[in-house]
Amino acid sequence: MLLSISNLSIDVNDKEILKDFNLDIKEGEIHAIMGPNGTGKSTLSKVIMGNKNYNIKSGDILFENKSILSMKTDEIARLGIFLSMQNPISIEGVKNSEFLKTALSSKTGENVRIYDFMKIIDKNIKDLDIKEEMIHRSINVGASGGERKKNEILQMKILKPKLIILDELDSGLDIDSLKKVCKNINEYKKENKDSSILIITHYPRILEYIKPDYVHIMMNGNIKKTGDLSFALKVEKDGYKWLNDIDEKK
Ligand code: ADP
Ligand code: MG
Repeated sequence: MLLSISNLSIDVNDKEILKDFNLDIKEGEIHAIMGPNGTGKSTLSKVIMGNKNYNIKSGDILFENKSILSMKTDEIARLGIFLSMQNPISIEGVKNSEFLKTALSSKTGENVRIYDFMKIIDKNIKDLDIKEEMIHRSINVGASGGERKKNEILQMKILKPKLIILDELDSGLDIDSLKKVCKNINEYKKENKDSSILIITHYPRILEYIKPDYVHIMMNGNIKKTGDLSFALKVEKDGYKWLNDIDEKK
């Protein structure tokens, strides 16, 4: 098992967000989580990444059979988990290329030679259709929503994670950019067969480009129902209400 979340309950400022949440992801699998706004999807991704603003009431998160619950974000990243954030921030004064180079050498523990690094960057910005000047600017300063998302995937391709979490990658990307970014992710997955992906989304469109093995519907802090891609299409057509009805009939 690559990632195993068991009975995880979390609150913040006395508000319960995740309630007895369970999810297992094996090596090579692609999972999608869909669910209405405010259900706790982004909270889940942040807690996996070691954000300590949340109070863990119970449960555990194991990555390759080791608990990561008390680890710091950089330690978790070094283990090979990557989060593409829903709203990537900008950081004035930190040059994108410097950031990427430092992140890479801190992940591998080796000094990165500038010539080799620039070759990797050149290839990847071409593949992702990122403007070269973005690399030499401060991280995401003046960047559009879509450019920020592409920058997240550039980080992913350079850091080579085992588990990729995509929190609403599709928000902010126009349709051509979404296709391009998904193509990059699929190629990465093909080259790294054991890597797994967790896609958080509202829309089934991204799931037509990156085909999930499982689609989970999350409501009120845990997974209500699991299905396949056709299940995502039903949610697109009928919304989430019928899932509540299932609960009420129980
Ligand atoms: P989703 O990504 O599913 O739309 P979120 O995980 O962002 O939902 O948020 C889940 C709920 O938790 C929301 O009601 C949100 O307002 C609340 N929440 C998240 N973080 C905090 C916080 N730091 N303080 C208070 N409420 C929070
Ligand atoms: Mg969210």
